[in-house]
Amino acid sequence: IMKSVLRSIVKFGKRNPKNYKLFGTIVEEEIQNSNQVKVKETTQHSFQAETGRLLEIVAKSLYTERDVFVRELLSNASDALEKQRFKELSGESEPSDTLQISMSTDEPRRELIIQDNGIGMSKEDLIGLLGTIARSGSGAFKQELIKDGVNAHGLDQSLIGQFGVGFYSSFVVAESVEVISKKEGLPAYLWKSDGDHGFEISEIEDAPFERGTKIILR
Ligand code: ADP
Ligand code: MG
Repeated sequence: IMKSVLRSIVKFGKRNPKNYKLFGTIVEEEIQNSNQVKVKETTQHSFQAETGRLLEIVAKSLYTERDVFVRELLSNASDALEKQRFKELSGESEPSDTLQISMSTDEPRRELIIQDNGIGMSKEDLIGLLGTIARSGSGAFKQELIKDGVNAHGLDQSLIGQFGVGFYSSFVVAESVEVISKKEGLPAYLWKSDGDHGFEISEIEDAPFERGTKIILR
């Protein structure tokens, strides 16, 4: 799977030449897994009635090529970096060092991990954007920019997301998906789902990173 993943990264990189680093690494040292984070409290959420069935359609029919999830998750990470870049250009956020996406595997745990240091998601984002199928935060963001007539340094052009289903392609290959996400100035949250009935969200006690999103496919 790593070979096809790397092939997808190269393809993706060629199509999206940006001024930030996109790289794949095979990390051999021990990775900090989400089950090592301490959480405060967990809330359970069920998917809307239709989501369970939609998920089945997405996972089984929409994506005939299994490794398409790589493209979807990388494009989400890329969008997150673009939004962060926009925040920095508009002075809403301090300029950060390299905006980057990294990818790693933990073979013994059979996990594939994709991490970005982009804009991150709040608890509300995790519920409203990740937990709701066919709702696109990137699509909405783009519409806002266009409505406000903001010349966002080509940002509206460079955002890829629009349909709000891409993330769910994770469940084509993963039995369970964990998302750790942190927005600037907010706590980090852990979102967990097996893609069947719903998801749970917990606040993490000590944020494992300053900003961004880490997706763990098991
Ligand atoms: P789309 O990319 O078409 O909007 P997705 O299902 O791929 O749909 O993602 C839904 C939304 O979840 C995105 O629009 C974005 O707001 C949010 N999201 C997904 N992945 C990330 C990420 N790595 N960082 C920040 N936000 C994300
Ligand atoms: Mg997407």
